[in-house]
Amino acid sequence: MKRAGIMGHPVAHSLSPVFQAAAFRESGLDVSYDLWDTSPSRLRARIESLRAPDILGANVTIPYKEAVVPLLDELGGQSARVGAVNTIVNRDGRLFGFNTDGPGFVAALRNEAAFDVAGRSVLLLGAGGAARGIAFALVDARAKTIGVTNRTIDRATRLAADVRAAGGPAEAVKPGASLARFDCVVNCTSIGMHGGPDPAGLPVEIDSLSRGALAVDIVYIPEVTPFLAAAATGGLRTFGGLPMLIYQGALAFELWTGVNAPAEAMAVAARNELQRRAALASGQRP
Ligand code: NAP
Repeated sequence: MKRAGIMGHPVAHSLSPVFQAAAFRESGLDVSYDLWDTSPSRLRARIESLRAPDILGANVTIPYKEAVVPLLDELGGQSARVGAVNTIVNRDGRLFGFNTDGPGFVAALRNEAAFDVAGRSVLLLGAGGAARGIAFALVDARAKTIGVTNRTIDRATRLAADVRAAGGPAEAVKPGASLARFDCVVNCTSIGMHGGPDPAGLPVEIDSLSRGALAVDIVYIPEVTPFLAAAATGGLRTFGGLPMLIYQGALAFELWTGVNAPAEAMAVAARNELQRRAALASGQRP
């Protein structure tokens, strides 16, 4: 049996074990996928443990996506530019870091929302880690314009400059600027997340967006966030964050195994688990 897992702190509520186990089962692979709760003082030891022959690799989540970068042997894809890794692959004792969050976002839009970002203008709300990953994936996927706006506008300006330095068509979008030219608007902030910041802080007015735009939220709990609810009321098409989570995991699975990921089985497992948790939280029998 081979092993993989997710490292973070805390990780108890991660959905990854549920849908990665479903992927290995569906593909007939004998792999166990575990929760690796790792305290900061154990991070280096955890990384070293991934070099063992029975380890395929790991997912990395909060708060270690940046901290693991200097502990790895090589960085693949856009992870060096993003400055964060969410997937580690063990190849004969050498550790390779990747960031599948942004490519997972692009694949989810293409496969599940019939929206190809090539030649389209995309506005990112937020300039944190997730926005960075998505911005560089949009460059690879040939988006026409990548707008970035954020509560802390300097951070948006910095991200746009980093993307332009990589040859991407990025610009910081200041408050009050016209947003009607964007085909897709993506909430990449933690606003709207269950227990997260106040939805009133979202740096966009729904009325300023084009009616034809696609509104996307990468927050996936709750499934319908305040941003998506307001966008739907305003007549926009909406798309939630769960498919991105599934596709970033599917791309990690493919990096570990070289096998096409069974994305549908992964999505079913994740949805069932979210329903089970919702039923438990509301006091019903799951
Ligand atoms: P992060 O690096 O901490 O960035 C947080 C972003 O939210 C920043 O732009 C920050 O703005 C903004 N923000 C936070 N509180 C705010 C407030 N009260 N008012 C206005 N803006 C606020 O976090 P991250 O890693 O990018 O993650 C962001 C969200 O994406 C999280 O909810 C995470 O769960 C979700 N996510 C989803 C997936 C998926 O697969 N669906 C993958 C990755 C992340 P400032 O710069 O002004 O602080």
